[in-house]
This record gives sequence, C-alpha cells and structure tokens, in this order.
Amino acid sequence: MVLRAEYQLGDEEKKLEESAEICLKCGVCCVLKAHSCHAQYDEQFDPTHTFVYDCLGSENPTGNLNIWLCVSCHKCEELCPYDVTPIEFIEAMKAKAFELGLAHPGVMSEIEQIIGTGSAFPVTGSSVRQREAIGLEPLDPKAQDELKLISEETGLTERLNRYKEAQK
Ligand code: SF4
Ligand code: SF4
Repeated sequence: MVLRAEYQLGDEEKKLEESAEICLKCGVCCVLKAHSCHAQYDEQFDPTHTFVYDCLGSENPTGNLNIWLCVSCHKCEELCPYDVTPIEFIEAMKAKAFELGLAHPGVMSEIEQIIGTGSAFPVTGSSVRQREAIGLEPLDPKAQDELKLISEETGLTERLNRYKEAQK
C-alpha cells in the first residue's frame, strides 16, 4: 500500500514528499493486541482492516476522522519490521486537517477549553475544594493569560478562528 498523500518527513528532512513510504500491510503494528496500537480496539477495525490501514490507505486522509483516534504513542513505529512510520503520516494529516478546518470537533473544543481556562478540565468550586483537600496549591490565574499569549503568538488563535469560519 503506497501512502496516498503528501506528508512531512521527520525533523531532519523538513520537506513534503509524495508517496514516500510503502506499508506492506503485514498487520504487525495492530494485530498484536495488548502490545500494539490501542486504536485497533475500536470495533470498526479487525485484522483484515486495521486502524493503520484505515489511516494510511484512506482516499481522503485529512477528512478521515479516525486519524484523531491516534494518541501518538509511537508503538506502530517501534513494532513495524519494515521501518514504516505510520505516526508521521497520521500527525501530518492531523496538521493538514486542522489547517483545512477538518479537525475532529471534540479536539477543537478541548483546545478552546485549555486556551480559555488554562486547564484541560472545567475549574469548578468542587475542583478547587478537592485541590485544597489533597494539599495542592491554588491554580495560578496567570497561567491562563500566558496560554492565551502563547496561542496568539504562535498563530493558534488565528487558526482556531479560521476553523470556526470554515464550520459556518
Ligand atoms: S502512534 Fe497512533 S497509530 Fe501508532 S500505535 Fe500509537 S495510536 Fe496507533
Ligand atoms: S507493521 Fe509496518 S508494514 Fe506492517 S502494516 Fe504496520 S506500518 Fe504497515
């Protein structure tokens, strides 16, 4: 299976290559349950149609919401006997999908939550009390401002706005 889309290679080689890798569809990265890709547990996948085949062989890889099941654990890369790196392809497709406004809505709302509140979870009276109860320091409100600044300076805020526009 030749990868269908352009993607960015590793740090040493920052350029786009087309069909730069070939997956031999041996299945090793997904079929060894408990050792391989966790996304393979999703019921839509089986040994004849693995998660990695689904991502690498998709006709529309940036529009394939399954790519967001990848948690970037690198197991596939470590297990592949042929030095294929599915994760690089999947991460590049996520980045492209983000640019195109195709990212998974759940991921976008999580990003907004973190930038907006400085926390991955809603900070409620209950969470404040629980922090106190286990001796954690109060959350620093400056962290929220710093995250907003980082988001603006890195262009993330602008991308989020573009994404929202694309969703209208
Ligand atoms: S990096 Fe992604 S594709 Fe590779 S094993 Fe982990 S979850 Fe699966
Ligand atoms: S182990 Fe490598 S060659 Fe085999 S299916 Fe996974 S990525 Fe493809």
